Amino acid sequence: MTAQPPVETGPKTNWTLREMLLWATGYLEKKGSLSPRLDVELLLAHVLHVPRIQLYVQFERVLQASEKDQFRGVLTRRAQGEPIAYILGTKGFMSHTFAVNPHVLIPRSDTECLVEAVLQDHAAITTPLRILDAGTGSGCILLSLLKARPQDHGIGWDISPGALQVAQHNAQLLEIPTTQLALHLRDMSQAESWATETSVQILVSNPPYIAPEEESELSPSVRSYEPREALFAPDSGVFFYKKIQALAGNLLAPGAKVYLEMGHLQSGSVVEIFSTPAWCDTRLIPDLQGIPRVLATTYTGVPPR
Ligand code: GLN
Repeated sequence: MTAQPPVETGPKTNWTLREMLLWATGYLEKKGSLSPRLDVELLLAHVLHVPRIQLYVQFERVLQASEKDQFRGVLTRRAQGEPIAYILGTKGFMSHTFAVNPHVLIPRSDTECLVEAVLQDHAAITTPLRILDAGTGSGCILLSLLKARPQDHGIGWDISPGALQVAQHNAQLLEIPTTQLALHLRDMSQAESWATETSVQILVSNPPYIAPEEESELSPSVRSYEPREALFAPDSGVFFYKKIQALAGNLLAPGAKVYLEMGHLQSGSVVEIFSTPAWCDTRLIPDLQGIPRVLATTYTGVPPR
């Protein structure tokens, strides 16, 4: 007599990794994820504490009940639109792993072009420089710079105590010496903040730049999960560029370099804001899609007007 396939009665209990990958990918696709397979792989690897490649090596592994429960939990969060980085608690940036939580903006790969520009422009300078990051969030920009330039000193500002805690934690994860970094609670819209430092030679910032009127154009997972104070700025989104233009001279050394990330349609207005005698050698740096993303400029030492 030929063997009969086992008859399934009731809900499926024994799921192999392969079956779960297939099923969960279809599920997230239906829920609107744009990268369902990748999401599922990251979530499964996270729950099983294995590198992603191991999922393929262990394709026929049967998931234990506890693993299935945990996976169901994170899959549901993802299906509801929560960004994968908040679920995993980490995000890769400049080949480092940064801890993230909803107090901080999730580092974006576009921001890497800002870091790379700073590193390239200063590659020949080996003397210690003072770098200020206005609105440091997770610390991804500042800490990546300090990691690559161990002789430099970094100052990170943020308006959010929760964000500063994340930045501090990331400094520890990246083993940045405590003497190399100072993190401060500062509101960059206030003139007093810009009077608290001197002799800064590199100013970097990825300030909030989304106009409040554009909120409806954001994807729901950005709108509902990322910190509002990291996203939105008044005055059609250019409020902080105007503040930096007007106030940064208080703490910059003459000849200091400034690198500012901006929204993909803002380069015209930001260049305009920096068209005063206080700034020279202004240029735009494109992101990976070729869109101007970063304004780089040099402080002449003539006080801004
Ligand atoms: N500097 C951080 C980043 O680039 C945070 C920026 C922000 O909160 N607007 O990700």
